[in-house]
Amino acid sequence: MEETYHKPFEKIKKVEDTYQLNTYNKLPFSIEKGEGVYVYDSNGKKYLDLYGGHAVALTGHCHPAVVKAVKEQVDKLLFYSNVVYSSVRADASEALINAAPSGMGKVFFCNSGSEANETAMKIGRRYTGRKKIIAMKNGFHGRTIGSLSATGLGSYRKQFSPVIEDFVFVEFGNIGEFERSLTEDTGTVILEPVQSMAGVEIAGDPYYLKLREICSKRGVVLVFDEIQTGLGRTGSWFFGDRLGIAPDIITLAKGLGGGIPVGGVIINDRISETIGPGEHGSTFGGGPVAMAAVKANLEVIKEEGLVQNAREAGRYIMRELGNFKNVKNVKGKGLLLGIEIEDAAGLRDYLLGRGIITGTSSKKNVLRLLPPLILKHDEIDIFLSALKDY
Ligand code: PMP
Repeated sequence: MEETYHKPFEKIKKVEDTYQLNTYNKLPFSIEKGEGVYVYDSNGKKYLDLYGGHAVALTGHCHPAVVKAVKEQVDKLLFYSNVVYSSVRADASEALINAAPSGMGKVFFCNSGSEANETAMKIGRRYTGRKKIIAMKNGFHGRTIGSLSATGLGSYRKQFSPVIEDFVFVEFGNIGEFERSLTEDTGTVILEPVQSMAGVEIAGDPYYLKLREICSKRGVVLVFDEIQTGLGRTGSWFFGDRLGIAPDIITLAKGLGGGIPVGGVIINDRISETIGPGEHGSTFGGGPVAMAAVKANLEVIKEEGLVQNAREAGRYIMRELGNFKNVKNVKGKGLLLGIEIEDAAGLRDYLLGRGIITGTSSKKNVLRLLPPLILKHDEIDIFLSALKDY
């Protein structure tokens, strides 16, 4: 791309730093354009985006089908709430439920991952009448007070205590500790099936099967936060599909709208039948622009075989990284990968210099890859060849 933008980067940075609340550590460039797995900064520099715009660009940046659907919708109607029906909401709901595990027949749309998790925990309480929620040490579920209360990663909670009581934290992957922590008062358990921010931690298959079995036996609502793992990223539409299990509630956001902000909560039939009008809501949830994006985005995932591609591309990266002496281990599944290396931030910065965006995690030695699911072998090879020179 030859095009450059008029404001020099230093000006953009100065203005943004002056007016925006200082809550983010930012990389030193301004992204102005995206196309597939590539983004371009204000100087016209091209980057291979293996961070996927923060795991959002599931179908790539500005997928033409998503852009077209949004443009068409924008011309017709920007917004009307859930007080009326909407054909595009009907279509998006149907498309999402068609992809969902069987027995999970209802969706609630909202605006973000935190809001989706708030909704799930509210429903868990409402359904069981029990207030205690079990969450995982080192898990991440968002920044609102409720989702932060479920977030085990200490650094996010530290300055905001006390958060909501009634949360109990157990070690992810330790089924014995989970079982011992259950009491009469436990209504809900929430976890990321793969703990992403924690450094892409994944448990053995028996853990998930046992968790499902215990929750069913004890009447505890099992919530999978699939905000990062969902919609194909780990090589199946939803994490439990591969194991033949489904949680009671799945929360989604990030890649759901292909770049348009939207969250979703998928709920099993047993629970959804008990919920009635007035018990929950969200003004912008299910708005037409977001719904047009969701519908188009889900069609792209299906029609372009992106679930299979995520599985296959992830295997290729793992296999190839096995030959690298500076890589100690690769964790994760599909295209949610954690690369164990001595200094992840150092490698991230080096790769940026080579025009490749990756992510760090809460572990200093884990570099994260969360690329679009359209990633091809020749794009992976660009990354591998840069890593070889490191
Ligand atoms: N859960 C997980 C697993 C996440 O990765 C995130 C966002 N990083 C959230 C919840 C919160 O999502 P949001 O920022 O959209 O509120």
